[in-house]
Amino acid sequence: MANWIRNTPALAGQFVPGMPGYRECRRCVMDTSMVEIEFDDEGTCNFCRGYDLKVKAVELASAEKERKLTALLEAIRADGKGRDYDCILGLSGGVDSSYLALKCKDWGLRPLLVQFDNGWNTELANHNIQVVCEKLGFDLHTYVVDWPEFRDLQLSFLKAGLANLEAPSDHGIFACIYREAEAQKIPWLMSGVNNATEACCPIGEKSKYRFGYGYRYSDLVHLKAVHRRFGSVRLKTYPMMGILKRMWLERKVKIKRFDPLNFLAYDKKAAIAELQERLGWRPYEGKHFESVITRFHQSYILPRKFALDKRRLHLSGLIWSGQLDRAQALTELARPPCPPEMVEQDRQFFVKKLRLSESEFDAMMQAEAKEYSDYPNLNRTFNNIPRITHWLRLLVRLGRKS
Ligand SMILES: [Zn+2]
Repeated sequence: MANWIRNTPALAGQFVPGMPGYRECRRCVMDTSMVEIEFDDEGTCNFCRGYDLKVKAVELASAEKERKLTALLEAIRADGKGRDYDCILGLSGGVDSSYLALKCKDWGLRPLLVQFDNGWNTELANHNIQVVCEKLGFDLHTYVVDWPEFRDLQLSFLKAGLANLEAPSDHGIFACIYREAEAQKIPWLMSGVNNATEACCPIGEKSKYRFGYGYRYSDLVHLKAVHRRFGSVRLKTYPMMGILKRMWLERKVKIKRFDPLNFLAYDKKAAIAELQERLGWRPYEGKHFESVITRFHQSYILPRKFALDKRRLHLSGLIWSGQLDRAQALTELARPPCPPEMVEQDRQFFVKKLRLSESEFDAMMQAEAKEYSDYPNLNRTFNNIPRITHWLRLLVRLGRKS
């Protein structure tokens, strides 16, 4: 049994490698360390079914994709006439967002790039952000967090025993992008979200209520509740965006979301090569290892406290999109997520930066793992948004007729 994975189950219903009851999908590499996994008679999991239903079913033929992409790009250019920017894009310095910025240039778009500086960026990420902006000539809006506030918020999630330590960063960038779109009246929100390198949501009742990797970052009620209970610094400047404000903004500024990478034959290796050649962009190991906290979270905290290896999600995504075969993914998984010396270096940095003592951090790692549902949340409301919007539309229509 690999020593970077803890050998006791962290959550009820979780089975890790080496335990009786452990199972791995026959098609992808998802396994019973994900509490929401379910298998069919053939031994294929509900993440595979999620991919088939949600992605493959709507997968367009390449000619159709091209036609749709051209039409969308035209709409973006038209909506942007007379404005400083026609779209907005969060830039982390990682492959997906950098590649999307490069494509925006090729398509003749004028994006405003937004960076959320949470204080954890690697030198490499800063270099990549700099070359993307300089070589492409795009404006960059950098939001720098107030460190005492942000540290307190991240510590709250750590103290709460929640797997989603990245929620404060993810919510922050999401709120910054919406705020900036409102201030500058930018109608299109681009994202590097893609089906080729990111795993799909599982299908099934269980997956509506259980989240092995952490709960949705957009739930402000949850974020505030966790901070209220475990934090001590008032959040005066941290950007926040509640569900109602977001829905109102989407109506007022008419913000439309667009994930262009899903309209391209997006191949990660080829994208990296193109970024290196055209921009002098530099690659890094792992998915989202451009940030120290992400790297440490995925290679130490998640595996050791929650018995979760996030690479299973990324590698499964690559298997589904035909960029990797299962045997290659298993070879990759047999290696530790990050070289041990780097993990140790990151651990020391992490403890020091959060102003923890070694024993305080160890106690947090040993403490019981919790689920989002142990704290106030709006999961039910989020799950019902499509139904609520459907009824609201119907009511509005009926109101107009009468
Ligand atoms: Zn599967």
